[in-house]
Amino acid sequence: MMRRAVCIWAVAAVTSGGLGIAQSPAQAPARVSDYPTAAVPLTSVTFSDAFWAPRLETVRTVTIGATFKQSELTGRIKNFEIAGGDATGEFCSRYAFDDSDVYKIIEGASYALAVRRDQALDGYLDALIAKIGKAQEPDGYLYTARTIAPSRPMAMAGKERWTNLRDSHELYNLGHLYEAAAAHYQATGKKTLLAIATKSADLVARTFGPAGLRYPPGHQEIEIGLVKLHRVTKDPRYLALAKFFLDERGNPAGHELYGEYAQDHKPVVDQDEAVGHSVRAAYMYAAMADVAALTGDVRYVAALDRLWDDVVLRKLYLTGGIGATGAWEGFGPAYDLPNSAYAETCASIANALWNFRMFLLKQDARYIDVYERAVYNAMLSGISLGGDTFFYPNPLLSLGQHERSPWFACACCPSNLPRFMLSMPGHAYAVAGDRVFVNLFVQGEARVALPGGELRLEQQTRYPWDGDIKIRVSPSKPGPFTLAVRVPGWSLDHPVPGTLYRSLASEREPVTLRVNGLLVPIRLERGFAIIARDWAAGDSINLHLPMPVRRVLAHDAVKADEGRVAVERGPLVYTAEFVDNGGRVTNLVLDDQAPLAFGWQPDLLRGVMTVTGKATALKMRNGSPVAEASPLTLIPYYAWAHRGSGEMAVWLARRADRARPAPEPTLASAAKASSSEGGKSLQGLNEQYEPTDSNDHTALYFHWWPKKASTEWVQYDFPAVVPVSEASVYWFDDTGQGGCRIPRTWRILYRRGDQWVPVETRDAYGLAKDAYNTVRFSPVSTTALRLEVVLPEAFSSGIQEWKVK
Ligand SMILES: [Zn+2]
Repeated sequence: MMRRAVCIWAVAAVTSGGLGIAQSPAQAPARVSDYPTAAVPLTSVTFSDAFWAPRLETVRTVTIGATFKQSELTGRIKNFEIAGGDATGEFCSRYAFDDSDVYKIIEGASYALAVRRDQALDGYLDALIAKIGKAQEPDGYLYTARTIAPSRPMAMAGKERWTNLRDSHELYNLGHLYEAAAAHYQATGKKTLLAIATKSADLVARTFGPAGLRYPPGHQEIEIGLVKLHRVTKDPRYLALAKFFLDERGNPAGHELYGEYAQDHKPVVDQDEAVGHSVRAAYMYAAMADVAALTGDVRYVAALDRLWDDVVLRKLYLTGGIGATGAWEGFGPAYDLPNSAYAETCASIANALWNFRMFLLKQDARYIDVYERAVYNAMLSGISLGGDTFFYPNPLLSLGQHERSPWFACACCPSNLPRFMLSMPGHAYAVAGDRVFVNLFVQGEARVALPGGELRLEQQTRYPWDGDIKIRVSPSKPGPFTLAVRVPGWSLDHPVPGTLYRSLASEREPVTLRVNGLLVPIRLERGFAIIARDWAAGDSINLHLPMPVRRVLAHDAVKADEGRVAVERGPLVYTAEFVDNGGRVTNLVLDDQAPLAFGWQPDLLRGVMTVTGKATALKMRNGSPVAEASPLTLIPYYAWAHRGSGEMAVWLARRADRARPAPEPTLASAAKASSSEGGKSLQGLNEQYEPTDSNDHTALYFHWWPKKASTEWVQYDFPAVVPVSEASVYWFDDTGQGGCRIPRTWRILYRRGDQWVPVETRDAYGLAKDAYNTVRFSPVSTTALRLEVVLPEAFSSGIQEWKVK
């Protein structure tokens, strides 16, 4: 969420217009309506299954505490104490948006309190909220990055209040405050945080508007928060303000546009392509759905339909992740879905939040299909099984450079997971009139308020491990109503709505539905099986979703997946990881005809269904690839990176030319690499991936960033004394993206006794980009070789690959 990269696309011409149906932002829009569908609240739903229930318990008992602890250790909470006068010092974390992490964890903790008493947590929140209250200025302003030292605020904050809204995150922070305040109030009945939030929102309402400041926030979020505050307080100003911020985007009358990166290139109602930072985008889309529901402004819905098509037809990873590139943490062009994927955890959460709202708007199961895909795969990969380490990006291909971390300097993802995961029970069921929607298949109970009385639903299922779902239907008194049970797209061989991914033809056992044991025809309406009848206590339905292993192909336009195949079972995307597959996976070829089986592994990764079969492994032998039969084991994608670092690939080669044969061992690959202090990713030196250019981020690379202007070295220690007479180095240079450049000079030294002696060469030490720089030297017999570099004055350096002969 932090990087502000230069947008490399041309900014589209600003168009104005629209149908003029909505009221102007000057008027407070009356709350004309709401979503036609109401979610069954999380307090009325219990998960008691073996998949989600233990995970939510881990979030409650581990993740909330761990993320609050990290907030304390990193100064995020001390910032509030300093701003409130209970401590002294400077702003002591890194970013002006660090306040928001604390608000997000409070929101998650509130959902935990909503379903279970926890005196210690309740007390912790009370004390924390008191600190936040003291950090709030008398007129309602709340932003520790300025309040701590108003005369010298941090750079991204801007000199004065609200003067750098593009980057300051002043309003972004408040959005998370408002969401937390609504959740805390609803969970505990206490108005402590709510009072802070309304005091803040009242200041924002006095400051911004048609007659006031007309800057939208650089990072969307306050719009969602304002809608939640509006729902709790019924104050129409907050809804009007949410709509105002949306409508000021792309409106050059009020401010200098921020461009595509922040979806501020044209009015939101005119947008039809998902561009820029993907978390900002999907939070904005979610807010547009909220405001559309509450104001009846259909122009938002028309724009959302176009934007949803653009994402789901062209920009969605198979895992449900969005955001192809780290350069601007966002969307790439259509079909540009490299498996190095950014797919930020927050973006998966935002995608799920948006799609859930689209479902509320349209009662169409395809939105829950996308939600489910994002949640079971891209989002869940973002948190470890233990609940205390996290991924920021969630790639579909790793060469071993990825590892979950307990925290990040920019900690948006760890703090987003508790609030999202603990809110999931509130997404499982919904109701519209006398129609009850069953969205998610999770064993447990729901109590649904229907016009005719309360309905209790009990789900029994082992989903996602098998597709048998039994629902016991217990209305408080017999009567007619309708159950709408989702039939997931994957069960009908449509991995996603549209044509971005397709299942390879398989003989499919049909989906079946029974009511009180009797087979009934499935009447599908917008993806839901509709069962309208008189129900009485003791009735039951059985939905059978066959769960064979499915092979999936990507649209031909997705070049990254050309000649590749992915494997799914039920809602889970599978992946091949080095540890199960002889140390490598990029050299494997999975033939379309090779049979695949599945089996339960209770002791693996806390219990997973694995997929097994036979693949072909390609290996270089004497300069040519040879093929060997090789057993193949796939695990659910969410569970990767728990057993050390190595290769992982969701998309396996389907043809030999898409596999990368395992290279033969070389002097360099057999050597032990080390470096001067501060060198990072040593394995990048000799992992034998050929870079396509110096700026290739898919091959592993070694670097010294952020060191500059110093003399540094890397070293190979050989297993024995070996003769060496040549060294080739391929420099890493990320001009345009980072701070590594070709070094000023370099040379090779060898170990003689306890001395490092320069080799004798007449070749020049080359400084070419995008190529190997080779020096031949008088042969030496040695146990170690060093490559010494002098870093540029203002930059660091790195190495894609270092070969020796
Ligand atoms: Zn994030």
